[in-house]
Amino acid sequence: MNLLPLPAFSDNYIWMLHDGRHALVVDPGEAEPVLQALDRLGLRLQAILVTHHHSDHVGGVQALREATGAAVYGPARERIPAPAVALAGGDQVEALGLSFAVIDVPGHTAGHIAYHCTLADGAPLLFCGDTLFSGGCGRLFEGTPAQMLASLDALAALPGDTRICCAHEYTLSNLRFAHVVEPRNAALLHHSRECERLRAHNLPTLPSRMALERDINPFLRVRLPAVAAAARRRDPSVNTTDAVAVFAALREWKNEFR
Ligand code: ZN
Ligand code: FE
Repeated sequence: MNLLPLPAFSDNYIWMLHDGRHALVVDPGEAEPVLQALDRLGLRLQAILVTHHHSDHVGGVQALREATGAAVYGPARERIPAPAVALAGGDQVEALGLSFAVIDVPGHTAGHIAYHCTLADGAPLLFCGDTLFSGGCGRLFEGTPAQMLASLDALAALPGDTRICCAHEYTLSNLRFAHVVEPRNAALLHHSRECERLRAHNLPTLPSRMALERDINPFLRVRLPAVAAAARRRDPSVNTTDAVAVFAALREWKNEFR
């Protein structure tokens, strides 16, 4: 299996998985990068997986379906271009001979889902849309902090070697924020240097790995005293033993962080 991030818009990635003959894509916000890759690699598009309804994730669905006849899968609780197979947590999607487990991850949007696949020939894969980013998480457009924290906790419980395929290249700005939260986190400093090197060569910082995110991502670390203390320095009303309150304070802080 081959995994590649197709750049789209200014900072989106449309993830493509292919076996040399058939392909699937996740969150095609535009069709053109996918059509070009299919053509260049001589692939047939078999499936389109959608994580949530935002236009930078579904804008290319209709054109791709019309051009390729690929089946579309997406969240049952959101409006995405029809017809699509409606999915919710606990469902399985079969594509490319692989099985993808659907996980409900509300927070960024109310019906956001993620896809987790244990590959026969490599580390597990997670397509998590705009829920988990390397060093960060999605904004809370439709969900509550409690929902988003529960979603992130569910993802963080996946195997440590899971490759995390996020939908945006937000890593460097996330890591700058993470460093302000945890200035003494050595793993974070090391990873920041590696990502700066990659971006200097215009290379993706993704996929990330779950074990790494558990070490560097402040939004997965809200129960650590150092992270809770940082949230409290920012907002003195935060109860540091309340993970949801710490998470909410971090998320608000990040919203204003430049
Ligand atoms: Zn989004
Ligand atoms: Fe997005």
